[in-house]
Amino acid sequence: MLYTCGHKIPDSDSIIGAIAMAYLQEKLGKQTKAVRQGDINPETAYILEKFNLETPELKTSFAGCDLFMVDYNNYTEGPDDLKEANLVGIADHHKLGGLVTAGPLDVWIRAVGCSNTVIKEMFDYYEIEIPKDIAGAMMCAILSDTVIFKSPTCTKVDTRICKELADIAAIEDFKAIGMEMFKVKSQVEGVPTRELVKRDYKNFDMYGHKVGVGQLEVVDLSIFDEIKDDLIADIEALRVEDDNDTVLLVLTDIIAMGSQILVATKSPEVIEKAWDVKIENNQFWLKGCLSRKKQIIPFLEPAFK
Ligand code: MG
Ligand code: MG
Ligand code: MG
Repeated sequence: MLYTCGHKIPDSDSIIGAIAMAYLQEKLGKQTKAVRQGDINPETAYILEKFNLETPELKTSFAGCDLFMVDYNNYTEGPDDLKEANLVGIADHHKLGGLVTAGPLDVWIRAVGCSNTVIKEMFDYYEIEIPKDIAGAMMCAILSDTVIFKSPTCTKVDTRICKELADIAAIEDFKAIGMEMFKVKSQVEGVPTRELVKRDYKNFDMYGHKVGVGQLEVVDLSIFDEIKDDLIADIEALRVEDDNDTVLLVLTDIIAMGSQILVATKSPEVIEKAWDVKIENNQFWLKGCLSRKKQIIPFLEPAFK
């Protein structure tokens, strides 16, 4: 059995990517199963329901299993026993994260906005047709990861492939579906603070400093006005619990095109140096910042050197 699986705290790219990859590998003659390492977020639930796709089963241990990774390529975001799994392939769009494998594998990594863009290219390469529902979900994953093409991570390949997937799915107004998705993402009322902090959260090791960075992408930042103090208190609590140097929560306004960064840190001078900013009341504004991958991590990591 070949398992296809995305990263810990899975996002839509990880879940839909696993489903699409399982379908592709099945067509290529393997017995496959799409699985996930964690809970489904509300945006992904919306996509799965919209396209009548089954939620992949939860699986957290892969020792001795054949595994095709999607949407990540490091140990931190993998299962704890990743070193004991047999890595068959990777489809991803992140920086290299230091994997070592026992044998050769099928690696598809490109500097594009979404893993599902890479997976669509794999379907084309192998000349396999994509079913309508899977195509629609892949289109949504691209709209999500590229913030409806606004993110600096978005490339011409992503927009072209997203449109091709919309055609296969017979969807005309795909940008409207994108907005609908971000409205689902923007519902924070009544959600426990920790759940919001951890909804899209990644751990990093930056030159020996443990750093956590969460991100919430919404259509209007004012929805955080009343809970911002709680969020700041919670990332400080999380920083202490996880023995992190720093925990950031990136509150991204996809319409205003910028992010309010909430900060819990032992090293304020590092954060201030990273972006040449001043932290006030545990926060600062980053104009034009939409992407953790391109506008947060590449600035923060070298500042810890
Ligand atoms: Mg992801
Ligand atoms: Mg992705
Ligand atoms: Mg994302």
